[in-house]
Amino acid sequence: MLDLKTMAKRYHAARAAFLDNAERAGWKTESILHPLPGPDGGPLHMDLAFCGDPEAQDLLMISSGTHGIEGYLGSQIQSRLLEEGIVGTTRDDLHTVMVHAVNPYGFAWHRRVNEDNVDLNRNFIDFGKPLPVNEGYKDFYDILNPQAWDEGHSARLKQEAAEAIARMGLAAVFQAVSGGQYAHPEGLQYGGVEPSWSRRTIEALWARFMAGKIRATQIDLHTGLGEAGNGVLMTYGEGSQPRIRRARAMWGDILVSPPADGPDVLAQGVLGPHLERLFPKAEVLAVVLEYGTVAPEDVVAAIAADNWLHRFGDLESVQAGRIKQMMLDAFYSDAPGFAEKTYKRAWDVVSAASNAG
Ligand SMILES: [Zn+2]
Repeated sequence: MLDLKTMAKRYHAARAAFLDNAERAGWKTESILHPLPGPDGGPLHMDLAFCGDPEAQDLLMISSGTHGIEGYLGSQIQSRLLEEGIVGTTRDDLHTVMVHAVNPYGFAWHRRVNEDNVDLNRNFIDFGKPLPVNEGYKDFYDILNPQAWDEGHSARLKQEAAEAIARMGLAAVFQAVSGGQYAHPEGLQYGGVEPSWSRRTIEALWARFMAGKIRATQIDLHTGLGEAGNGVLMTYGEGSQPRIRRARAMWGDILVSPPADGPDVLAQGVLGPHLERLFPKAEVLAVVLEYGTVAPEDVVAAIAADNWLHRFGDLESVQAGRIKQMMLDAFYSDAPGFAEKTYKRAWDVVSAASNAG
């Protein structure tokens, strides 16, 4: 059972470990205050650590917590990369930046979304254009957004999600349920109506770090999709693009989904493609390193329960504690071997990116 104090403690401990390890490794750090408090009333931050020459032409960024609670694993990986002192020191022509808790509010409150119930990784759309319409979402609206939450609803949701995946395939269900929706601010997987605090903050950081760069690699750490403990590299695009060829040369295997500006896009408003769009003159490769945890229906049940809790429930209740534990179990694991396996994969991915000149 997780209460608000314990949640806040976990967030502060993760943040402190990141900053301590960065300083010990000789990296510079910087912290940006979030406008809202955490579950204990204390401050929340997006934290940065830098290594190497800021004037270098090549940039490597490693970020965590775009999806709030997914940052527990991301933070653990970032801290250990810093602790072992092996990243960002291999080449003179590389500037390395780690961003800890892109969405600190979701991180500390054990949510996947941010302070506005916005899935930050659906928020990077062009708000000057008509909002995307997600036709498939309405078929799932009632089951994803119930008025009451209990074990019975949780079981029904998991069963319906598993049946839909068997019937339509994971990609189609993902598009409908998780691809982003812009019509229901109270609902699950909402993408927002304007750029969020995290988006505005990270865009300003990108402008600063990208100045003078001819090449950049961004690795955004995520959890909750795939086989438990497996880390899969993902991006959008076409195999013929130089950035995809570079990815394959560096890492071998990468899952390439249909282009982010095309009709078959899996999810709208994802951070990585936006970074690539903002700096067309540089060769920017933005990827997600996605780690599997539990079955997709368990992940959906956890985020639906959490959405219900913040909309209708009592955050101080016993039920809230159970739902926050469900969230942690859906996006993080302390099973034997999980930390080691996930770190090893991250080390391979990051050191290949760090060494490729
Ligand atoms: Zn994620």
